[in-house]
Amino acid sequence: MLKENLEEVERRIAAACGRAGRKRDEVTLIAVSKTKPVSAIREIMGCSVVDFGENKVQEMCKKMEEIKEPLHWHLIGHLQRNKVKYIVGKAYLIHSVDSIRLAKEIQKEAEKYGKVCPVLIEINIGGEESKDGIPKEEAIPLIREIAELSCIQVRGLMTIAPPVEKPEDARGYFKEMRELFQAVEAEQIPGVEMKELSMGMTGDFEVAIEEGATMVRVGTAIFGERQYAV
Ligand SMILES: *Cc1c(COP(=O)(O)O)cnc(C)c1O
Repeated sequence: MLKENLEEVERRIAAACGRAGRKRDEVTLIAVSKTKPVSAIREIMGCSVVDFGENKVQEMCKKMEEIKEPLHWHLIGHLQRNKVKYIVGKAYLIHSVDSIRLAKEIQKEAEKYGKVCPVLIEINIGGEESKDGIPKEEAIPLIREIAELSCIQVRGLMTIAPPVEKPEDARGYFKEMRELFQAVEAEQIPGVEMKELSMGMTGDFEVAIEEGATMVRVGTAIFGERQYAV
C-alpha cells in the first residue's frame, strides 16, 4: 500500500516538473518518516528512496541505529543546541538552522570530527509568531556570519509555508522564497553554496516544485496520517 502511495506522489512530482519545464532529477523527494515505524521506512527503501526526513533527534538516531543501510537522513525539525552533538557527522543535511548560536554549536561539534556539516537556513516566510525560522530580512546577515565558520556550510534555504486553504494560496510564499534564494546567491558569499531550496509538504509540494523547490518533504501522502500519543 505504501508503494502505491509513493507511486502516486512520484507521478504528481513528475507532472509538476513537467508543468514547470523542469527535469525530474532537479527535485529530491524526502520521505518524512517521523512517528512511523522502521518497517514502514524499509518498505519505502525497497522502492529505491534514499532520502528520509525526521523532526526529532532522538527518534532519528534510534532509526539510524536500526537501519544499517547508508541512507540520507535529513533533520527537518527544530534543533536544540544540546542535541547537536548527537547528529553532527550523521545527518546528511540539517534543514533547520535559524541562529548564530546554533550554528556555532554545530561548528564546535563538526570541528571535533574534522568534518564540514551542510545546513540549510530556515526562513519563517509567513512571519508567523509561533514558527521557527528567521525573518527573510535576516537571512543574508546570518549567512554571512555563518560563512565565517569553517566546519559548517550553508547549502540553501528551507521553509514551512503557513497553513492555507488551497495549495495555490501558498504560491506567493514559495515565490518569495525563490526570490530570497536568488538574492542570497547573488551575494556570492565565499564558502556558501546555494544549491537547495527545501519547501513543499503533502498539502503543497506541487506548487512548491512549480516555484523552484529542489527538495520536497512529504510525509502524510506516503506514510498516511500520523498518530500522536496524547
Ligand atoms: C512533518 C513535516 C513534513 C511533512 O509533512 P506532511 O504534511 O505530512 O507531508 C515536512 N516538513 C517538516 C518540517 C515537517 O515537520
